[in-house]
Parts: sequence; C-alpha cells; structure tokens
Amino acid sequence: MNTLAKLHADIDQRVDCIRAEYPDWLCRSGCEGCCHRLAEIPQLTAAEWDLLREGLSQLPEASQHSIRQNVIALTEQQSRPIVCPMLNQESGTCRVYLYRPTACRTYGFYVQRDKGLYCNDIEAQVASSALDNVVWGNQDAIDQRLKSTGETRELTAWFSGWKISVGNDSLYPNCLDTPVSR
Ligand code: SF4
Ligand code: SF4
Repeated sequence: MNTLAKLHADIDQRVDCIRAEYPDWLCRSGCEGCCHRLAEIPQLTAAEWDLLREGLSQLPEASQHSIRQNVIALTEQQSRPIVCPMLNQESGTCRVYLYRPTACRTYGFYVQRDKGLYCNDIEAQVASSALDNVVWGNQDAIDQRLKSTGETRELTAWFSGWKISVGNDSLYPNCLDTPVSR
C-alpha cells in the first residue's frame, strides 16, 4: 500500500469509528453542500493528482469534457466560494468518488488547530452539544503526512496538462457518479 493509500485507509478508519457511534451523522448520501461551496481552488499533491487522474480516465468521454469545461470556467472565476468541477450538479453526485482528494475524505470528520471545523452544519450540532463525545480526526497531522506525497499544486494547474481519455471502458462502473457521502 503506498503512502497515500495508507493515509486514506487511516482516515476511513477514523470516519468509520465516528459513524459507528453516530449512525445519524450529517455527512451522508445526498448532502453535497461542501462540494458546492469550496472556499478556494483545492490544492492537490502529485500522488492525489495521480489518483484523481486515474478516476477521470474511467469516466465516459462526455463527463470528462464536462469536467474540463468546469475547470476552464474556474480558472476565470474571481468570486468565492466555488463549486467543485467534479461535482455532477444535476444529480448531486461526485464523479470521482473513489479517487477523490484527501480533503474530501476528512471534511466533516476532522478539525484543524487554527481553523476548527469546516462544515457549518456540523458546527451547529457541536454548538448544541449534540456531538460532545466525538473523537475528531487531526487535520494538522493529515496535512503533515500529505506533504510526503509529492509537490502541491492547485487543481487547475494539474489539469492544464491533462488529456481526455477516449474510448476507455470503465473498470469500476459502480464508482462513477457516486452520491457524496464521506
Ligand atoms: S461536511 Fe458533511 S454535513 Fe457538511 S455539507 Fe459536507 S457532507 Fe454535508
Ligand atoms: S467529494 Fe467529489 S465533488 Fe465533492 S469536493 Fe470532493 S471531488 Fe469534488
């Protein structure tokens, strides 16, 4: 298992623990609010980009074109927040769910020393004391481990050298357009 895969496995373990204790956790299929309001263009390491690129190559050509158009639009957009270019806005699904970046996996379950929680909806539950006993993941530690997975660039920069894969039969048809559920 490579470094990124091990990191993702550890994140999954923490997420599973939280879910087991809180079966009604807010992050679930159909809740894609965070994908609609990213504060900035995501930063990805080289290993995260390799993984994402693998997911992109499994997509039908039309979906790849749609994502490319979204990314081009993003490079010209000045306003914030932004909508993730990989989100299928019609269905509210992530087109690259199994291949998504690390931040998508931790959002909702991890806290950062300087920034606290990311999701306002979850923050509201914390304020109402509904999540008092949660053992949150440590986002600072995740960021530290991510540093060893290669150079970091903005998503749009990685995409600048990306070529659409033509005629690729998906090896993982069930992974595509998966409801967002962290
Ligand atoms: S972090 Fe979870 S609860 Fe918050 S918007 Fe995202 S999926 Fe929904
Ligand atoms: S889960 Fe998918 S759609 Fe949502 S922000 Fe991550 S890559 Fe984008």
